[in-house]
Amino acid sequence: MSALKVDQRSFEHPEIAVKETQSTGWGLFANATYKPGDPIFWLSTEDTYASKIVKWEDSFGDCFDRGYTIVPDFGFCCTSESPFWNMNHSCNPNAGFVNWGRIENGLIPIVAYKRIAVGEQITADYATFTMSYDGTPDGGPWEMGPCLCGETDCLGVVTGFERLPLELQMKYILPASKPYGRVLAHIVHDLPRLEEILRQQSPKRFAEYQQALKGLYGKSAELQQTIGPSRPPSPDWKR
Ligand SMILES: [Zn+2]
Repeated sequence: MSALKVDQRSFEHPEIAVKETQSTGWGLFANATYKPGDPIFWLSTEDTYASKIVKWEDSFGDCFDRGYTIVPDFGFCCTSESPFWNMNHSCNPNAGFVNWGRIENGLIPIVAYKRIAVGEQITADYATFTMSYDGTPDGGPWEMGPCLCGETDCLGVVTGFERLPLELQMKYILPASKPYGRVLAHIVHDLPRLEEILRQQSPKRFAEYQQALKGLYGKSAELQQTIGPSRPPSPDWKR
């Protein structure tokens, strides 16, 4: 029933829309004001009209660059019907994961990190949902570049979380203010040194992290039963 304009596409949430940008082609924009912690939209761990969960090895091909390891060992493959598809990367994002990607009623929320005004572009750091083995079918690292975010602290190339400088990793695992837990739990779990830093520096955040990790691996175990076995290769540097 809704009118579809060529230069703007709306979703089931009227508070967000896709619009053309100058540098990246398209982007996700706010039609409402968000405060830090406000949910903007949700990713589904069940198949929907906008996304499906696939085996990790099937997150290449048609799903490449839109298939992300949101549940351990599985790819979240979205279409242009999902707001996530059009959310551009920023090295200084205003939105992203919360509570370590804890699943709530089958959904994983994307929330505001800062106050977002009407008309402002909504961005996330792609590193916070990219595993070290997401680049190639044989488990190579993923990267995308050059980064077009335009931030003064732009890293130049977008990579997996494991390649971010420690200082930046710390901003996502222990940010100075809410919302907490800005990276998916299984991505931290993949980096034992960082997991240990979290355990030592904040027992409270570590407990929340462990709870989210349990939920994400529980979902993965369920998918291993319903979709079938999915086991990404372990990168050499971890062995
Ligand atoms: Zn950048």
